[in-house]
Amino acid sequence: MGGYDRWVIHLDMDAFYASCEQLTRPTLAHRPVLVGGAGPRGVVAGASYQAREHGIKSAMPMSQARRLLPPNGVILPPRFKLYELLSTQVFDLVAQYAPVLERISLDEAFAEPPSLARASSDEVREFGARLREHIRTEIGLVASIGAASGKQVAKVASDLAKPDGLLVVDQGTERDFLAPLPTRVLWGIGPVAEGKLRAIGVRTLGQLTALSDADAVSTLGSVVGRDLRRLATGVDDRPVSDRAELKQVSAETTFDRDLIDLPSLRREVRDLAVHAHRRLVNAGRVARTVVVKLRHTDFSTVTRSETMASPTDEFDQLAAMAERLLIDPTEFGGVRLAGVAFSGLSVPHQDPLFTLSVPAADVPALERAPAPVAVVSSSWRPGDDVVHDSFGTGWVQGAGHGRVTVRFETRSSGPGVARTFQQEDPALRRGEPGDCLA
Ligand SMILES: [Mg+2]
Repeated sequence: MGGYDRWVIHLDMDAFYASCEQLTRPTLAHRPVLVGGAGPRGVVAGASYQAREHGIKSAMPMSQARRLLPPNGVILPPRFKLYELLSTQVFDLVAQYAPVLERISLDEAFAEPPSLARASSDEVREFGARLREHIRTEIGLVASIGAASGKQVAKVASDLAKPDGLLVVDQGTERDFLAPLPTRVLWGIGPVAEGKLRAIGVRTLGQLTALSDADAVSTLGSVVGRDLRRLATGVDDRPVSDRAELKQVSAETTFDRDLIDLPSLRREVRDLAVHAHRRLVNAGRVARTVVVKLRHTDFSTVTRSETMASPTDEFDQLAAMAERLLIDPTEFGGVRLAGVAFSGLSVPHQDPLFTLSVPAADVPALERAPAPVAVVSSSWRPGDDVVHDSFGTGWVQGAGHGRVTVRFETRSSGPGVARTFQQEDPALRRGEPGDCLA
């Protein structure tokens, strides 16, 4: 019995930042761990599953998360260099199975493994299980995998497979698989579109595909509505491609005749926004900045832009901003060319990271007792990597009163012992991010 032509897998590391901490600091392996800025405006960038059991989620304000965190929980500053090292290890390994990887963040990628061309679902399940096991034994981290005939369904499948799971969507069942799911699982449907759809009684992707053309067009716009409804049926032939870091997506056009009134300029710019938005969604990105370019009859060019507080892939929000940036041709002269670009691109849900830059002294001592004490800038802070002349590699578990408590452990050591030193102990040196991978 033959299989199908195309299998896309979406691989997503489970609770990646927190898992990197638990892997390299084995004492934390089964404890609630939060990674993020601990300052007044800090947010949770990563939470271990033990922390999630207490209702803590990514992007939650740290002040709220701290109240939910049980007494054995810890808050750690992020170590992005370490996460990058582990990310490289993971995807170097995945590349042995699938040479073309479309990385979408430190811990997520699409792949279309050549060995799976025309494979059966069972063969894909075997492949996924083998790859997950290889990552676990070789690196020590857990990856969840979704597999399907296209990227959108594979991505939804890996989300549903979490934690520590594998979900293969049999080909031909994509539509039924998506039907009961809420509309927001689809790329391109954010809170605004979700709200509009809910207002006309559409909560699931099944209901979205059943919508009449007229209702879809009036709610989502003609092109966006058609694209999203197509994705909602599980039809997705977008390629998996290894691409350079994307800076912006855009669309522009020169008009046959100069536009001399605002309503027709608005209409054209909305059209351009549709095309730029399609590129944004295809790239799996969200944008923070909208740029509008207008070339006037006299060839002078004006560029106007606006940046939002948080990035979005929501068409209405992006298009409305592009329209607000327009200049009335009756005041500034006819327009012969217009362009719309979305820039400040990022991968959805990664944004909280950009608000992590809190003053170091705001990071509290990890252990609840004794009470954390503000430390001077030159001294050790909780979470710091440390090397000791005789005890080796470790990390600062707590600091205060002129003393520092260091836990000596690495990826391979098992839970280590803690020792307390004077802050100025000359045997203590700052460690490198990769030391703990030993
Ligand atoms: Mg992940």
